[in-house]
Formats: sequence, C-alpha cells, structure tokens
Amino acid sequence: MYHIGILNKITNPDIEKKAIGNDAIITCFNVEKETELPDSAKTIDAAIIFHRTKLTKIGIDKLAHCRLIVCASVGFDNVDIEYAKEKNIPVVNIPDYGIDDVADHTMALFLTYVRRIREFSYALKQNASQNWNQHIAGEYHRITNKHFGILGLGRIGTAVALRAKAFGMTVSYYDPYKPTGYEKVLHINKCGSLETLFSTNDFVSTHVPLTEETRNMITRKLLASTDKRPVLINTARGAVISNNTIFEALENNLIEAYLADVLETEPPLQNDKMLSTYLSSSRLLITPHVAAYAMESLYEMRYRAAENAMAFLQKQTLNNCVNFEG
Ligand code: NAD
Repeated sequence: MYHIGILNKITNPDIEKKAIGNDAIITCFNVEKETELPDSAKTIDAAIIFHRTKLTKIGIDKLAHCRLIVCASVGFDNVDIEYAKEKNIPVVNIPDYGIDDVADHTMALFLTYVRRIREFSYALKQNASQNWNQHIAGEYHRITNKHFGILGLGRIGTAVALRAKAFGMTVSYYDPYKPTGYEKVLHINKCGSLETLFSTNDFVSTHVPLTEETRNMITRKLLASTDKRPVLINTARGAVISNNTIFEALENNLIEAYLADVLETEPPLQNDKMLSTYLSSSRLLITPHVAAYAMESLYEMRYRAAENAMAFLQKQTLNNCVNFEG
C-alpha cells in the first residue's frame, strides 16, 4: 500500500481518492508552513503541495522516504527543485489545468479596466438614478486597433494572444525561448527585445514563469525607457515586478495602470504603500491569485496531481518533471 501526503490546503481528499483507487492511503497534513509538518510526514512515498506553501530544504528533509513531489499548480517556484534534485526526488507540476481560466481572467481584468466597469458599477451602487450617466468614469478609448503585447508566449500567453486578436487588436510578443515561426502561425508580431515590447504596445500582459531571470525583470529603468505609458497586466507571478517599482511607476506616470492577479508578497502586508495609496484608484485593479480558479479547473488540478503521484509510484511514469532532464 502506497502512502500519499497532501501537505496543505485540502482537508477532505474526496477527489484524490477517486484518482488513486484502493492502492494508496492519503494523509492530509493541512499545514500553512513546512516547519509545521509532523514527524509522521517522513513515512509518505509521494507529496502533493499546493502553491501557497513553500517547500525548501527544511521541509524536504522532513519527507525522509518521499520519492516524488507533485506541485498541484502550474508554477513551481514555491519548491526548492534543485535541493529536491540533490536528494534524487523528481518534482512534477500540472502545467495545463487552467490555461483558459487564466487567459479569460487576464481579459476580464483588461475589459474591466478599459470599459470602466468597476467605476460604473460602484457609482450605481451609490445612487443608481443620480449616477445613470456616461460621464462618471471620465474619458476612455476604443479597444479595436490598440496594440497588445505579451511577455512570454507559452501556453497561457498564446491563449491570451488569440483572445486579444479576437478583440481586433494588433498583438505582439517577446519570448526569446520560443522557436521562430510562431509569429507566422498565430499571425502576430515578434519583438526582438523587452524594450521594443514596452515601447510599441498600449497594453503589456506578462505570462513568464518566475525564475532567476524573470524575477524583477520589469524594472523602473525599463518602464522609463519609453513614453508609451502602457497598461501593465500581470496574471503570472507578482515578483516579476516589485511592489516598489509598481508604486514608483504609478507615482511617476510611467504606466497608465496596473491590473494583476498576483503580488510580490501574498497575502499582501497590511501597510503595503502601493496598495494603501492606489487600491481605491481606477489605476490599480487586483484580484487575490484566483485567475486559474473555477470549479472545473480545481477538480482537474487535484485529480491529475493524485493521478500523477500514482502513475509514478506504480509504474515510475514521470509526467511533466521540472528538475530532471528527459
Ligand atoms: P509556459 O511554460 O507554457 O510558458 C512560459 C513562457 O515564458 C515560455 O514560452 C517561455 O519561453 C517564456 N519565458 C521564460 N523566460 C522568459 C524570459 N526571460 N523572457 C520572455 N519569455 C520567457 O507557462 P504557462 O502555462 O503559460 O504559465 C505561465 C505562468 O503563469 C506560470 O509559470 C505561472 O507562474 C503563471 N500562472 C499563474 C496562475 C494564476 O492563478 N494567476 C495560474 C497558472 C499559471
């Protein structure tokens, strides 16, 4: 009998049980921090971890018999995958459970901002008859023919590109790791540099993973290098741009607005300067890391995480390994 441990978030493993059948038992540890993992965690054969909890050397050392770590998420920046590799533990992720959901959420942030939905809705809640008025939200512009830029043309970036094209926008992307030719397949434009992406687009939407290279890759210097003042959208990872840079970019009008599902620190600190100054302004729109969420995507993610754990334990099949080649 195999033993699978779900480290956090889940207390009722009903979906996981459907995926694993009768060949494994499941323990839900339900911890917020790896330091809270009990001694009994050392007995599990495979661990499933959801994104909000970190798993570093401290937690990995507690999983003494663990042979596989499954990140029940697309991003795996919460797990020290290099240390897991040193311990010969493969780490796998679920890269495709919420592609459409994140792409839809990106466009929802975009549309809420450009059509001033939040301002109209808020005004009507205050006084529907008095505020039945087109001037409440000031001047705003047509979407068609605007330029929409994508940073990172992977699965989600591509899904966003297709949606942006459907709105009649000119779409371009920057992704030095994408083989040549995708611009022709999708009929979009390829930018040769990050600077070009930011200086030629009205909107820039980021879809890169968080890596050493992408952490803080959107800098104040980059934003100041153009007078385009794009609207910046981030449904990838908060740390691609620091809260301080967002604050300074809003203060100095380097960006028109920041629309995001993710923040550098989640949940945010109570006294965060950027949030306390701008959250009530139309130039900042934030959702609490829910872009991938829908009942269907949550089910798919949990089922596939448990299924992948079993595939490895029973047949040594590795689906979407992120720390070993081949
Ligand atoms: P993906 O791996 O399919 O695509 C990422 C793309 O980024 C790749 O094409 C890659 O070449 C490109 N890239 C990497 N480094 C780059 C760099 N320095 N400059 C430009 N491009 C670079 O990943 P995906 O499935 O599209 O997901 C993207 C990210 O979205 C995930 O890594 C995750 O962090 C985030 N995400 C967020 C949520 C959410 O709930 N908000 C949900 C799912 C995924």
